[in-house]
Amino acid sequence: MINAKKIILDVLFPPVCLGCFKNLEEKIEEKPKEKQCLCDACLKLIVINSAFSCPVCRLRLADNKVICRHEGVPRYILGAAANYDNPVINSLIHYFKYENFQNLAPFLSELILEFLGRTGFDTSGFILVPIPLHTSRERQRGYNQSKLLAEILSEKLKINLVDGLKRIKKTNPQVQAKKSGDREKNVKDCFEVINANQIKGKNILLVDDVFTSGATINEAVKVLRSAGARKIAALVIAKA
Ligand SMILES: [Zn+2]
Ligand SMILES: [Zn+2]
Repeated sequence: MINAKKIILDVLFPPVCLGCFKNLEEKIEEKPKEKQCLCDACLKLIVINSAFSCPVCRLRLADNKVICRHEGVPRYILGAAANYDNPVINSLIHYFKYENFQNLAPFLSELILEFLGRTGFDTSGFILVPIPLHTSRERQRGYNQSKLLAEILSEKLKINLVDGLKRIKKTNPQVQAKKSGDREKNVKDCFEVINANQIKGKNILLVDDVFTSGATINEAVKVLRSAGARKIAALVIAKA
């Protein structure tokens, strides 16, 4: 039963807009397939960012380079295609993550590509590393949403994807850890580097779905750095 439901959801979008839930008009077939998840009005509401930012103080980084230093946080830049408080983005991410809408991956990857285009960031010489889920959570969900994005980005940007991280500790979902100190404790030592020979000396684009407190990505950056990674940029659909 579950598999049948999955297959159906994979093949078909429901005939409603995932932003406003209005029925989509009949001429929907004329739109590119990946845009068939939204009505024209909701599509227009999406705002794509045009610069990377500091993951800590959120300073806009016009030159795609780290310029500030914050104690206790490894240095990297944050590239968020959009903002999580945008209701259309928020809704798409919810369906992508929790409702098995794996077929949103091409559209959401497109947002990240559009963001990269706007910033002029040169991805050559970088590899993509998706943030992994714990095996038990991935089994439960059936897929890793970050890996789906990274696979498409790898194909479009023509750069390699390396499974460079493994989740070795089962963490509580970040939403449940309210205080920032709790969030850090929750994810501490939750990753280990795998395929270390493919990480050492490399520039890395770390792919995740959303950036909220930054605790998870900070932790991932920390272990990748200690495995010899050089420049690191986080790429996400949206930041909170
Ligand atoms: Zn709509
Ligand atoms: Zn800063």
